[in-house]
Amino acid sequence: MIVRNLQLVRDRITTACVAAARDPASVRLLAVSKTFNADAVIEAMSDGQRAFGENYIQEGVDKILAVRAWEADHPDLPLSRPSEWHCIGPIQSNKTRLVAEHFDWVQSVDRLKIAQRLSEQRPPHLPPLQVCLQVNIDGGATKSGVAPQDAQALAAEVARLPRLQLRGLMSIPEPAPDFVAACAIHKRAADLFDQINRAGVLPQAMDTLSMGMTADLEAAIHAGSTMVRVGTAIFGGR
Ligand SMILES: *Cc1c(COP(=O)(O)O)cnc(C)c1O
Repeated sequence: MIVRNLQLVRDRITTACVAAARDPASVRLLAVSKTFNADAVIEAMSDGQRAFGENYIQEGVDKILAVRAWEADHPDLPLSRPSEWHCIGPIQSNKTRLVAEHFDWVQSVDRLKIAQRLSEQRPPHLPPLQVCLQVNIDGGATKSGVAPQDAQALAAEVARLPRLQLRGLMSIPEPAPDFVAACAIHKRAADLFDQINRAGVLPQAMDTLSMGMTADLEAAIHAGSTMVRVGTAIFGGR
């Protein structure tokens, strides 16, 4: 089922890219495996899926350890590359060490204090933690994320932290009533992304615009997403 679903999602991504006159290779698929177990992840990996997203830190760390142990036990398998883990959920200060020690990416950084702790706690033997800033693009009151007008200043500060590499922006807009409305809200994130890159405040341009989920990935791709985060359409309902 998971393998079949992955094919359907890849087809959706390709179709959306063609419709938007974009190269399908310009959009990465992050499989959001929250609430599903390591076996589900391994099944997706058997079909070539590499990047996985987790919302809940402890659940994510347990799964990362289980999957990495499985990978170490199966060095002969034709998995071209090891699994790559993205933290996409809210991070409290007391959880930054777990994140810094186990994840490869964090997409949910929305304040400097959390970024500083992640940089300080990133173990020296690991590559820099890859970071996206979560932007509250539509001002949703219940959602975390830096306000759009503060994103550029935060990006400039995060980019200076030694053990982090700033890769881009992530957003989770409220569900939109239709395709046109969804495109418009994603376009705001895309415009902010371009604006920060053009402002000349970063040592290196950001290359990742993480937006689009099961319900709205076509609109996000239309607006310029380079990474869609898909859970339900791959693993089923939660
Ligand atoms: C759960 C989640 C997703 C995946 O959502 P689906 O609708 O299941 O595809 C993507 N991004 C974040 C931040 C999430 O929490």
